[in-house]
Amino acid sequence: MTIQTSICPRCGKPSEEGLCPECRAADVRLLTCEPYVTTIYCPVCESQKRGKTWSDLQMPREDLVTELAVSAVNIHEDAKDVRVTVRAEEIASNRTACTVEVEASLYGVPVRETCKTEIRWQRESCDRCSRISGGYYEGIVQVRATNRKINAYEREVAVNLAQQAEESLQQSGDRFSFISDLDDTKDGVDITVGTQHLGQEIARTITGALGGRFTTHPKLVGEKEGKALYRITYSLRLPFYQKGDVVVSHGNYFEVRDIDGHRLRVFDLTAGVARTLPEGEIERLLGNVREAESALVVFTQPGVVGLMDPKTYRTRELNMVSWTFPVEGEPIRVLRDEEQDRLVIVG
Ligand SMILES: [Zn+2]
Ligand SMILES: [Zn+2]
Repeated sequence: MTIQTSICPRCGKPSEEGLCPECRAADVRLLTCEPYVTTIYCPVCESQKRGKTWSDLQMPREDLVTELAVSAVNIHEDAKDVRVTVRAEEIASNRTACTVEVEASLYGVPVRETCKTEIRWQRESCDRCSRISGGYYEGIVQVRATNRKINAYEREVAVNLAQQAEESLQQSGDRFSFISDLDDTKDGVDITVGTQHLGQEIARTITGALGGRFTTHPKLVGEKEGKALYRITYSLRLPFYQKGDVVVSHGNYFEVRDIDGHRLRVFDLTAGVARTLPEGEIERLLGNVREAESALVVFTQPGVVGLMDPKTYRTRELNMVSWTFPVEGEPIRVLRDEEQDRLVIVG
């Protein structure tokens, strides 16, 4: 009896059946490439259009280039252990040449092929940028303070919170929640927003951080696709007193910690305890702890602390306050009471 063996009809090497793996692999095109792929993007905000849908680019541009180049490539379905590398070169402002190299295994034979494709970048103003440039908006958040102008700190907090709200809504996919205008006015800040959702969110976070309240004032401005179109003014009033204000009541000093309507939650800077204080019992405003000066502790004695006045460099004696722990040679923060000619320790 004889052992049945077969040989490859092309190269004559032993083969289990028909062509040997090397000859089969040599017959197959591992790769085919489209000559180019077209992609549409917004030149202002870099959003990408897929089908009819715009979305913000969620990946670095080089990853997008790789993804687009790979989308132009067809790899043979029998390939296994596929590894792809893409080399890209900008050849014009709207064209990127790509070389795609694929290493894989075909019928157990290692193979490697490259092919070339090109990405063509087509510019188009996205849905969001079209709205912004067309002047579309759905609301204005007006940040004001009660019986005073808002200060630089409040301005900065308001603007930062507004921008954070814009970013977090956009990241959650709400593309039209944009801020189209940030306007410093004489008394405050006006924030123009693309959606009522964003307006509401901004008003909510600013009053959460700085106190105060807001009211909403809708105004019918027309119709859009059969639906009434409103613009809303979010009228925001920060309280007269702010967190960190030091106020005088019945001759004592209090730091404002929170504002709840006309009642203030305060910290008694003499006794070191928290309490509430009706606004009507406040005699005057000293300043805010953000503007505190730093005074050097010259000496400490039971019940007395000596501070160097940072303006006159003279030593002043103050009653020790129980909740502070002054250390000789270290600074402590104080506010100046011009009316009583004294320093007030704020911690
Ligand atoms: Zn063969
Ligand atoms: Zn855009």
